Amino acid sequence: MALLEEYDGFLIDIDGVVLLGEDPLPGAVDALAKLADSGKPYAFVTNNPRLSGEEHAELLRRRDIEAADGQVLTSARTLISLVLEGPGEGSPAVVVGTDSFLRQVDEAGIEPVPLDEWRRAESVMVSGHEEFSYPELRAAAMAAREGALLGATGRDPTMPMPDGPWPGTGAILAAIETASGVEATVTGKPEPAIFEAGLDLLGRPDRVAMVGDRPDSDIAGAKAMGIAGILVTEGSDPAGADHLIRDLAGLVA
Ligand SMILES: [Mg+2]
Repeated sequence: MALLEEYDGFLIDIDGVVLLGEDPLPGAVDALAKLADSGKPYAFVTNNPRLSGEEHAELLRRRDIEAADGQVLTSARTLISLVLEGPGEGSPAVVVGTDSFLRQVDEAGIEPVPLDEWRRAESVMVSGHEEFSYPELRAAAMAAREGALLGATGRDPTMPMPDGPWPGTGAILAAIETASGVEATVTGKPEPAIFEAGLDLLGRPDRVAMVGDRPDSDIAGAKAMGIAGILVTEGSDPAGADHLIRDLAGLVA
């Protein structure tokens, strides 16, 4: 029986499962078309905070993968929820991340402060980006040390790219935690926040599987939530997963 038949709903990681960089991985387009045809609920859950959920959905559609705007959950979204529940709407924050991440924070009613005004910040919001700088590190670490809530979109040390693993949010967060002496609250996988949001989106069917390529975030997080883990890997080490597949074609084969 194909794995597609075994479960009632799917949470699907994007980087290293559906896309490598911006291009679809082998088998992904066809497998996701079959999943869409099956009528089973599915959502994409990603620790990649560079793009918003809507921007991710648009990228997937450009690659011939069906994805509605509301069907992509990012750990940026769950980090914004954490800050709205804590310091609250209108609160000032040191924000480390891409322009898209800053825009999402701003649109959610949180005020990104200029880095030299870090003393005003009630939270520090960290997500990986390629322009990470010493002034960002300094503002983030000093605000966290002074008691601002330190939150991050993930701890993944790397992210898969066509030329090999690039440093991820976890690498940048490690620098901020080291300099501040504060341990961050993380809202991405493997932490429950993003899985809870994903299950809500699916309508909480009985048997749900998480499909991901990282044992430490995708699979460990799924198992902690009591849902199945399907690991996408070239190797043979199950690493705690219920099933191993080489690519998304393995979901429908
Ligand atoms: Mg991944």
